[in-house]
Amino acid sequence: MEGGTPTRENFLPFVKPLIEKEEIEAVNNVLKSGWLTTGPKTKEFEKNFREYVGSNEAIGLSSCTAALHISLLTLGIKEGDEVITSTFTFVSTAHAIKYVRAIPILVDIEKDTFNINHNLIEEKITDKTKAIIVVHFGGHPCNMDKIIEIAKKYNLFIIEDAAHAIGASYKNKMIGNIGDITCFSFYANKNITTGEGGMLTTNNPEIANKARLLSYLGMEKDAWKRYSEEAAWFYRITDLGYKYNLSDILSSIGIEQLKKLNEINKKRREYTNYYTEKLEELEELTLPTEKEGVKSSWHLYPIIIKKDKLKINRDQFIRALNKENIGTAVHFIPLHKHLYYKQFIKEAFPIANWVFERILSLPLFPQMTKNDLDDVIMAIKKIIKYYKK
Ligand SMILES: *Cc1c(COP(=O)(O)O)cnc(C)c1O
Repeated sequence: MEGGTPTRENFLPFVKPLIEKEEIEAVNNVLKSGWLTTGPKTKEFEKNFREYVGSNEAIGLSSCTAALHISLLTLGIKEGDEVITSTFTFVSTAHAIKYVRAIPILVDIEKDTFNINHNLIEEKITDKTKAIIVVHFGGHPCNMDKIIEIAKKYNLFIIEDAAHAIGASYKNKMIGNIGDITCFSFYANKNITTGEGGMLTTNNPEIANKARLLSYLGMEKDAWKRYSEEAAWFYRITDLGYKYNLSDILSSIGIEQLKKLNEINKKRREYTNYYTEKLEELEELTLPTEKEGVKSSWHLYPIIIKKDKLKINRDQFIRALNKENIGTAVHFIPLHKHLYYKQFIKEAFPIANWVFERILSLPLFPQMTKNDLDDVIMAIKKIIKYYKK
């Protein structure tokens, strides 16, 4: 393999945002309109989003991290409270818990979906536990029936980190419409993007009002109406809120992206099926699956390499793919392996550790061509043939 010709001449990145003339035109229009910050475009994006997921309320925010933070604040989670989540997630999930001075209680994952193992949740519940944040890994919904059952039994809130799961559904219910609050991301590498951005959805109007207030400095913007018909300058500050609003510039991109979401997710599913069809024969790999009753948004195509069947480890596998000009990524470095969280968390998470040593995500984005997909498949087969035990 050393010094050989790579499978492709140019580098295939792991992901590329899909920005077309519609998004560029939409931004142009907002820039020309004179209204740049949160306004009519954000309102329109929120309405369209609400209709898409079928929730009563949707609030545009500056990121999913902000949405998670606002969720916990809104539900009154505070210092000393415990919040249960998966160790196999992006750091934002746990950081949000730390922002409100609560304690992240981590749980190990399932070996097939990489989602939180619901069988391990109850043993972690104490009288300080207030909420569970589930993470729909790679867009594959968690076992929500079980999670809801546990939450009801112990009177816990459910927050969903749906950064990967826009367009996914659980038993014909759209993600964004199940837990108390759901948080979405429009970061540059997500299924749809505004560069940076997020959305909080809920069916509870009280939660929505509080979340809106806390995401804009604790400002009661409608107060002036009550105060006087004329006093447009008047507002009340009733809380220590944050400034997490989503601008009209970004919302205008979101509106266009949302229109394309079904087409984007359809392509992701098509490419996923193609990968599986072509890679299935390789006994050196375990491929991702979709459980019955759920529809994944296929944010990721994570594969597991079987270490006992290969002479190279995951890191070397990634480097070999890189030499073939194929980009990959690793989701995720488990929370308990990060220096910051090692201070608080001393447990072992055997499944997350096992998965982390073996997992990598293949390129998956709608602009990929059949040739791109074939290159990835060819490169993987070439590497496995060369390094198989
Ligand atoms: C991307 C991501 C986030 C953070 O989203 P931002 O919009 O970048 O704040 C949170 N959780 C998970 C699982 C993610 O992948």
